[in-house]
Amino acid sequence: MRIGVLALQGAFREHLDTLRAIGVEGVRVREPADLDDVSGLILPGGESTTMRLLIERWGLREPILDLADRGAPIFGTCAGMIVLSRDIAGDEAPILPLLDVTVERNAFGRQLDSFEAELSVPVLGDTPVHAVFIRAPVIERTGPGVNVLARLDDGRVVAVRERNIIATAFHPELAGETRFHRLVATMAAEHDDPGEGSGRRPHPTRRARSTRLAR
Ligand code: GLN
Repeated sequence: MRIGVLALQGAFREHLDTLRAIGVEGVRVREPADLDDVSGLILPGGESTTMRLLIERWGLREPILDLADRGAPIFGTCAGMIVLSRDIAGDEAPILPLLDVTVERNAFGRQLDSFEAELSVPVLGDTPVHAVFIRAPVIERTGPGVNVLARLDDGRVVAVRERNIIATAFHPELAGETRFHRLVATMAAEHDDPGEGSGRRPHPTRRARSTRLAR
């Protein structure tokens, strides 16, 4: 199983390192052909305006939307979260509108350019996540299908999941945190083989049905 990391711009090396640390092969994605053989995709932090331009320039928009539509996990961190949001506050057009949320860019302003926090993320277990925020966005609105995975102490939403799409406003890959990547790898393995875990191979029609349901 291989997981792609969008490697056009930003902090993609740290995601490749984190995948290596958990024994998963990471692939740099720079053009559509790089997506042919991946079971999931990570969109790193960086600068979402630049990422928008490069995604369009390299013809990656449709192939990434297709990968998501087939049910493969897509995980965005920081700028990657902005890239995945259906609505970007301030009337910017969405980039890959896969998450039914409204995101506010640079939500912490100049006073708090970067900060770190211990966050409770119940889906990852009891040990808190050491979260690094760098000119981070925040989620202002979540649609009905969106699960909130983490909030700041003041209640603001900073990690979400909607079906096969996960996004964090912070950078787990900069803090030696591997549990989000493990979750993505587990989802990717299940996407490759929906019968995995049940101890038997899925019947072909079951596989087709679960792929459809994942849409
Ligand atoms: N502020 C950046 C943006 O709006 C995101 C910062 C980050 O990814 N660390 O795109």
